[in-house]
Amino acid sequence: MRVYNFSAGPSMLPLEVLEEAQREFLDFAGTGMSVCEISHRDKAFAPIVEEAESNLRELMNIPQEYCVLFVQGGASQQFAAVPLNLMHTGKADYIVTGNFAKKAWQEGKIYGEARVIASSEDKTYTYIPDVDKIAYNDDADYVHITSNNTIFGTRYAKFPETKAPLVCDMSSEILSREVDVTKFGVIYAGAQKNLAPAGVTIVIARRDLIENPLPICPTMLKWKTQADNGSLYNTPPCFAIYMANLVLRHLKKQGGVKAINEINVYKAGLLYDFIDSSSFYTNNVVKEYRSIMNVPFVTPSKELDEKFVKEAKAVGLVTLKGHRLVGGMRASIYNAMPVEGVKKLVEFMKKFELENA
Ligand SMILES: *Cc1c(COP(=O)(O)O)cnc(C)c1O
Repeated sequence: MRVYNFSAGPSMLPLEVLEEAQREFLDFAGTGMSVCEISHRDKAFAPIVEEAESNLRELMNIPQEYCVLFVQGGASQQFAAVPLNLMHTGKADYIVTGNFAKKAWQEGKIYGEARVIASSEDKTYTYIPDVDKIAYNDDADYVHITSNNTIFGTRYAKFPETKAPLVCDMSSEILSREVDVTKFGVIYAGAQKNLAPAGVTIVIARRDLIENPLPICPTMLKWKTQADNGSLYNTPPCFAIYMANLVLRHLKKQGGVKAINEINVYKAGLLYDFIDSSSFYTNNVVKEYRSIMNVPFVTPSKELDEKFVKEAKAVGLVTLKGHRLVGGMRASIYNAMPVEGVKKLVEFMKKFELENA
């Protein structure tokens, strides 16, 4: 029996995609081999990378002056790759809106003067600083932001307009809402939240920004290495890229990012409206910055939170335990979470409240 999995990542994948992967698992494209067994140099594999790239370009409207890379090491590896590719004068600005944003900044500090120009740590990351009131430094090589804060359940309602290239960690919301790629210098995202199983990380970088990595930048972390080799410099995470492509095809069939965004807004609305109408559950994120991907909430006590997680699991609503930094519960409702799953969660929340309030 399949459950509704509210995990923050790795997370649910569309059932149709899993079934398709299962159907061709033993014999991919008439090769008599699994996609897990074929060489990345095999002529059956090249079309997968090419199609994944072209599907992503189409879905996100990525212009040709940007390269699209499939790399490894997770979003966390990009925390280092960003300064190693971009920090030419040794100075960069960071907006710290959560745990991952802080980690990115800490990694940046290894390579140069990484400055926090705004932070929401003072209120345990329950809001996003007003991007129009931030004092951006003129000498920054880039400005780094985290568009959706997976642990704290916030997201930018509006992106900063910066002179320096804007670099964005979109791991937990890529392809969930429409973004204007041309406003960014670099976008990166670990795929395991909204796109694929763990193992592949997407980098979308403006081509002029990848030309001069720092001399100390390892070959594997140079975006240029991957760009010059069509993401096939070394063995890529073949299976994860294959799965990403199936998810991208599926998303196209669903009507693309605009269509899925409408569904995402609807799903998040079901949860937030219910939480706001209840005096039992609380989400303390400032409303305009609420994430539509990750919804943290608490009951009146830690004991009830634990009971909630346990009883939800028993009815097939799993991995609802909140991150250890926040406690309580967190419902991650990425693209692949069906509306039905969110409705079942809200029903369960109502019932739990009646029994425990
Ligand atoms: C999950 C996540 C990460 C970490 O990703 P890894 O691929 O595990 O390194 C970084 N940033 C954000 C916003 C995330 O949600």
